[in-house]
Amino acid sequence: MRQYIELEERYGAKNYKPLDVVLERGEGIWVWDVEGRKYMDCLSSYSAVNQGHCHPRIVEALTQQARRITLTSRAFRNDQLGLFYQEICTLTNSHMVLPMNSGAEAVETVIKAVRKWGYREKGVPSDKAQVIVCANNFHGRTITIVGFSTEKQYRDGFGPFTPGFVVIPFGDADALERSITPNTVGFLVEPIQGEAGIIIPPVGYLKSAREICSKNNVPLILDEIQTGLGRTGRLLAEMHEGIEADVSLVGKALSGGLYPISAILSNKDVLGVFMPGDHGSTFGGNPLACAVARTALKVLIDEKMIENSEKMGRYFLDALKRIKSPHVREVRGRGLFIGVELEAVAGGARKFCEALMSRGILCKETHENVIRFAPPLIVEKQDLDWALERIENVLTGSV
Ligand SMILES: *Cc1c(COP(=O)(O)O)cnc(C)c1O
Repeated sequence: MRQYIELEERYGAKNYKPLDVVLERGEGIWVWDVEGRKYMDCLSSYSAVNQGHCHPRIVEALTQQARRITLTSRAFRNDQLGLFYQEICTLTNSHMVLPMNSGAEAVETVIKAVRKWGYREKGVPSDKAQVIVCANNFHGRTITIVGFSTEKQYRDGFGPFTPGFVVIPFGDADALERSITPNTVGFLVEPIQGEAGIIIPPVGYLKSAREICSKNNVPLILDEIQTGLGRTGRLLAEMHEGIEADVSLVGKALSGGLYPISAILSNKDVLGVFMPGDHGSTFGGNPLACAVARTALKVLIDEKMIENSEKMGRYFLDALKRIKSPHVREVRGRGLFIGVELEAVAGGARKFCEALMSRGILCKETHENVIRFAPPLIVEKQDLDWALERIENVLTGSV
């Protein structure tokens, strides 16, 4: 194991500090390291592996498509793109879709789209468009996106940044209403803030945001890159409040964990502003990605993973809440998107994650003091019972 770690350390940029486990195989909720030890994956690659590792149907779709054709560029059409469009729009009740590769690219793309929409459709004066975002947001790592982050480390040393963003507190609908001006072209928000530590806004927040945005002709843009595709027990987290965003961003699990693809889903005329040449990506919408995404979506539905996420999420959350530990401040979550916030004196979540790893459970700390539990959506009760025994052990022991 050491030799793999040494190679990474010697040649790689140091922008990550992973747990020292070197994985070589995955199947469903389980992964194995190079020394044959087995672990339950409770991170699911930040929810990109919602369907479980190496799902056989998705692997089959990938290999079959890889033998046919993998890349056409958008200079030509391909026989997967239209079907992907139709299937994802039908499933999410969207009118228009634009495929990209990563989550950050989807965010960048929607910012371009709403800016152009603002100038063309809303009459915002040239270069005056503003997008409202929330404190403690996480939308990716490009210059524009980190420019409106409130996390010091994400920005430090990377300026100058793109102007045109206004930051308001998360979960505060009045602040949204107050901050809207005639130049506001969008409100970009995560339904539940993931990287901030699984922060769930007050009940009714998204509904209020929906009403405020509609009243002021401001597109509501939900970043569902992490919360979408079943993670919270609904296809999209917006469904918990019975609303529809004007634009929804999905990524991560759209790949089934196999091949990156993201998508901008638009319910309004926002995406309609793009004309040939306005935007593009060499790999965006390639047939391999589309074939994978089509199957990744089918599998979620056919195998009832969203229902399972809700059911198992409730079971897991309740059981975690019952653990009596002096280290735990709060347990919160929705579906299989769960955060255990530790007391400041507990000494940081990292050492708990290391202790869990030594007992066969892989999770990652979010910020300093939150342990995130987000297993693949196929997890079963007996698996959770196995994990809960070990989690209780770690949370109530001396670590
Ligand atoms: C992961 C994530 C992104 C960025 O996705 P990448 O594929 O890593 O660029 C954006 N928004 C949210 C909410 C995310 O969780």
